[in-house]
Amino acid sequence: MSGPSKVFVSVAEALALIEVNLPSPGRISMPLSRAAGRVLAEEIVAKESLPAFSNSAMDGYALRAAEVAGACAENPVELPLAGEIAAGEMPPATWPTGTCLRILTGAPIPADCEGVVPVEETQEVEGGVRFYADLIATGSNIRPSGEDVKAGARLLAPGHLVGPAEIALLAAQGITELEVTRRPRVGFLATGDELLAAHEAPRPGAIRNSNTPMILAMLADLGIEGVDLGVAPDNEESLATLLASALADVDLLLTSGGVSAGRYDLVGKVLEDLGAKWVFHKIAQQPGKPLAFLTWMDKPVFGLPGNPVSGFFTFWYYVAPALRKMMGQTDAHPRHVMAKLRGEIAGKPEKSFFGRAYTRWVGDAYEAEPRPPHGSHVLSTLTDANSFIILPTGTGKLEEGAEVRVAFF
Ligand code: AMP
Ligand code: MG
Repeated sequence: MSGPSKVFVSVAEALALIEVNLPSPGRISMPLSRAAGRVLAEEIVAKESLPAFSNSAMDGYALRAAEVAGACAENPVELPLAGEIAAGEMPPATWPTGTCLRILTGAPIPADCEGVVPVEETQEVEGGVRFYADLIATGSNIRPSGEDVKAGARLLAPGHLVGPAEIALLAAQGITELEVTRRPRVGFLATGDELLAAHEAPRPGAIRNSNTPMILAMLADLGIEGVDLGVAPDNEESLATLLASALADVDLLLTSGGVSAGRYDLVGKVLEDLGAKWVFHKIAQQPGKPLAFLTWMDKPVFGLPGNPVSGFFTFWYYVAPALRKMMGQTDAHPRHVMAKLRGEIAGKPEKSFFGRAYTRWVGDAYEAEPRPPHGSHVLSTLTDANSFIILPTGTGKLEEGAEVRVAFF
């Protein structure tokens, strides 16, 4: 075993090394109705203007501006009613001067019409309509054709995540089929002789396998149905057999445990024996220092640390963005905000420190309240938190009110 050449890299270096070792996404076509959560693989150009025709923004009366000019509560103006245009109907080609037309929201604006006075400013009377306001007071209430989208305009770029707003915009264009990226096949193999499944009876010295359900849930959050590859014991032959078939089967492989410095930490060595190439091992950070990253035939392989919070953190901060990028998503990393520290927290001399916290908007700023203990094995404070406070290498003790960078998970 030659081992990794890059050991104990910085957080920024790790992110950059992962980024340059990701395969590019494949593409498939998908009905719009099933595209939520997918990433666009094509550019979308507007086929039609939106609104396609000028239409009314209000229920009210379509008229020519001069004919109600100056109308107010004390001095209403009355016009005869010449007809009605409901949404979905075509307006009359002409309508007599000195009259108005009842018009409903979304109905096409008739030729000559300069605006719509909302129904709230009017009263229908025998043979006509009384106006208590004019267009200067109420605005034109016309939605001009092409105000939202102009035919031929670029609507969405490749890499854009399709959510409900995108679905609505595309449906409004009459688009029913999209080119989106493929979701990678991701396998997860837990390792450790001590591991016990949640349904098994406890035995002395055993530790329950919480990483498998956690990682499968984190994959599901990304829209990926992970492949549960079970639990590998801590011996080279079994690991080699399981890892070899896993590598052949998936697009990206995740393991947990067996990547730190113990004598049973065999994952890196066995992967290397199977032909995987090291990219880096260990990051100057807490939690998640032992993270291993290799490639096998261009497939990314992450050796996640065994400790549950390390696994959670390294998946969220490194693996999830990598998977989003493999799916072509441009906006792939967690969002960062600045927050006021509530309480105290201390960084580490030679590592980036990610301290769990509960962050919320209070008054006019985010406030982040640390949730110690921060130990890599402590799951209960993770469920109490919604974010990590990120302290760069060498940050000393910070007091109440200090400005800190926070990322939500
Ligand atoms: P390792 O890196 O294999 O030495 O594991 C570090 C710690 O994480 C040990 O306490 C393991 O028992 C624990 N651990 C490893 N895998 C899991 C898992 N799948 N679920 C829960 N804890 C685990
Ligand atoms: Mg282990």
